[in-house]
Amino acid sequence: MKRKLPWKPTVKPALVCVILLAMPVRSAPPHAPRHPQSSRLSDNPRVRAALDWFTPNISWINDQQARLTEIPAPPFQEAPRAAALKELLAEAGLSVQIDKAGNVIGELGGVNGKEIVIVSAHLDTVFPAGTEVKVHREGSRMTAPGISDNGTGVAALLALARAVRFARLKLQRTILFVGDVGEEGEGNLRGMRALVDTYRSNLKAVIVLDGSSTDHVTTKALASRRLEASITGPGGHSWSDFGMPNPINALVRGSVRFISTKVPPSPRTTFNIGQIEGGTSVNSIPHEARLKVDIRSESEDELTRLESALRECIAAGVRDEMDSARDRSKGKLEWKVELLGSRPGGELASDSPLLAALRAADEFVGNVSRIERSSTDANIPLSMGIDALSIGAGGNGGGAHSLQEWYDSAGREAGLKRTLLTVLGISGVAEEKSR
Ligand SMILES: [Zn+2]
Repeated sequence: MKRKLPWKPTVKPALVCVILLAMPVRSAPPHAPRHPQSSRLSDNPRVRAALDWFTPNISWINDQQARLTEIPAPPFQEAPRAAALKELLAEAGLSVQIDKAGNVIGELGGVNGKEIVIVSAHLDTVFPAGTEVKVHREGSRMTAPGISDNGTGVAALLALARAVRFARLKLQRTILFVGDVGEEGEGNLRGMRALVDTYRSNLKAVIVLDGSSTDHVTTKALASRRLEASITGPGGHSWSDFGMPNPINALVRGSVRFISTKVPPSPRTTFNIGQIEGGTSVNSIPHEARLKVDIRSESEDELTRLESALRECIAAGVRDEMDSARDRSKGKLEWKVELLGSRPGGELASDSPLLAALRAADEFVGNVSRIERSSTDANIPLSMGIDALSIGAGGNGGGAHSLQEWYDSAGREAGLKRTLLTVLGISGVAEEKSR
């Protein structure tokens, strides 16, 4: 899913000749960035110094990525990795604190300190405690669970802070460099929720760094809900109590109904039964059965419709099982469907200054990225009308959420420069009196 930066020129040579012939004699030099914002920014010698910081420091950045990835950060257990990042951000010269949610927040004050830009990278992984997270390195390639998602984002966060401090850049708006908790799964974006809650009134933009891929930018937040259906019953012995209602049977009956629910291709709507569990042994009628369902849609109405469908199907599954039970004397089945989490939707306006800053940065490094809809930390600010986007921080990676996850740092400096210019484009660089 991750692809290399498209460095190859997309214009055919013959066409280039035609364009060159048609060009006025005094045109801009061929490699000059055309976007006024990026050219203004990169004309600033301090911005240049920050941009130039990355290339000689790539191996340091890779080392930090490996080190932080080797500190386990299962859901709800991000604290040790947070503590390590806190130290690194403090070494970079930021004033750092950890908030009640567990987010690490490194502050770089701007001239207009009342306006805040958050640059965030989630600290948590999907991997449970005990997962082997040792990083294997071979040349520019590193392999370990979480190395790319989100080792790349966290390392980039640190690199940005270092580059900005190294160049002694003075910013218009205050930047908060944040390693946030609870992005994955049942973390339910709790870290970002807490951040937006705290800074909401002064928050001008949120830039989320997630993974490596620079071929897309997420500006549309995909709404989703996670639900758990559970069915309980009296339970019993497989032989002597044969015929009693069985929660697993009921759950299966309900599931079969639910998976035939029709969903529209547009607005695109999906569902997935991701986990199913229950029972204690093969020769027992179980007391309990549960399943977890993830539903996603471009439309909140479709989400609501699917959630109701799940409730109706589980209720019908229980009814079917009770109707066909041979022995109802020892009790009946109970069921419930609970909301484990929900991610609200939203969209960044196509004419927003934040998207313009990203486009200018893309142009500066020669990157092409397409707009995507996805479920990320950016959902929370976007759902509240705050400008936000989520991007990969450069290099290449793959196998996210698998034990074979890998990251290749070749070419990562282009992604870092793109990220830095996007951040500076929206935070603004303060004028210096001496210039
Ligand atoms: Zn991620």
